[in-house]
Amino acid sequence: MRRLYFDHAASTPADPRAVRAMQPYFSRAFGNPGSLHYYGQEAIAAVDAARERIGTLIGAKHFREVLFTSGATEANSLAVRGAVAFFRGAHPGVARPRIIISSIEHESVSEPAQALAAEWGADVVALPVNREGVVDIVALKDALSPETALVSVMHVNNEVGTVEPLREIRFMIDAFRKDRAAGAHPGPYPLFHTDAAQSFPYYYLDTELLGVDMMTLSSHKTYGPKGVGALFVRRDDEAFGGAGGPGTAAGFPLAAQTLGGGQEFGLRSGTENVPGIVGFAKAAEIAAAARGKTSLRVAALRNDLWRRIKTAVPAAEINGTAGDAKAPHILNVHFPGHPAQDLLTRFDRMGLAASSGSACRARAAAPSHVIEALGHPKARAAESIRFSLGKGTTGRAVAAAARIIEKAVAAAAR
Ligand code: PMP
Repeated sequence: MRRLYFDHAASTPADPRAVRAMQPYFSRAFGNPGSLHYYGQEAIAAVDAARERIGTLIGAKHFREVLFTSGATEANSLAVRGAVAFFRGAHPGVARPRIIISSIEHESVSEPAQALAAEWGADVVALPVNREGVVDIVALKDALSPETALVSVMHVNNEVGTVEPLREIRFMIDAFRKDRAAGAHPGPYPLFHTDAAQSFPYYYLDTELLGVDMMTLSSHKTYGPKGVGALFVRRDDEAFGGAGGPGTAAGFPLAAQTLGGGQEFGLRSGTENVPGIVGFAKAAEIAAAARGKTSLRVAALRNDLWRRIKTAVPAAEINGTAGDAKAPHILNVHFPGHPAQDLLTRFDRMGLAASSGSACRARAAAPSHVIEALGHPKARAAESIRFSLGKGTTGRAVAAAARIIEKAVAAAAR
């Protein structure tokens, strides 16, 4: 049976060129980047070259602004927990620092925030989104307070594909920072973090243009290996130059959450995943070079898939937006009256792989909080399926997938 993969938002196949680039770093150039001898030098040179490459691709000013992690989950956790811990250290007078997130964040952002609420009473505000999944800017304006340590809003939502208005958010934060510069808590807060795990193959992520202080990336969503990601952290020597002590690094508003050998400038201990980091950088370079073409082609295929689904199943509806504020690779469809799990099982038996939303939650089989946050009832969340395309998806695969969807829905209705 021919298999059709429509779950690229869960993971992408590693590009063979990225795999080739990794090869020497398993058994030949295998040294520990922390070692001072030849083997160590060889390894640290590879890690730092990868850091430079990724830093250049995202407009980082300094190569130290890229911290490698085990993936987007760890990067998000470090951003939320690390930035808020640092804020608390710098502002002991603020009893309950505020964390503003959107109501459609990935669990790797929302759960660390909720954990801080449970641990010491962090004040977590989840901003509503509209039907299309766009975060409510007015609600952000109302939520910003002198006690706010962090605003974290994702770039592309992983379930419905909505692209969030990061620049508008940044302008609002900038205005707020200026207004309160003379107030009770002057300083560079709130920090602005974005989870861009889904974005890299499709969007030019210039941290300067986006105006973010921190940004999360994931290798395996961008045709690199699994188990590696990065957190961009903007360096600001003026504001954070005095940072000191274990788990901090001068210029960075972050407190390490993993302590030990002091790798990644003291902000993320643990021997670096050298092959993974090399593969990630290679994959990122390849993806960035092909971005414009990939985006147009994948968006056209995605639109074609939607047209075919709508013709075959007229009751089907898009979740999120059908308009421009949508990443090219994601299509989330409500099939009224059809439990997603039932359809997904039928699809899989016929060779089509899709998902009901986040792969991280698939095992728990909980209905999507994202679809509900768009203002839809729970029932709709349980009847919705995400199809996500990739650079290897072809027009023939789209046509074949649409035929399977038509057959499966017809069979389920009998
Ligand atoms: N954030 C988003 C938006 C994601 O889609 C994912 C992957 N489902 C993650 C974070 C977690 O990424 P990783 O698998 O690299 O930990």
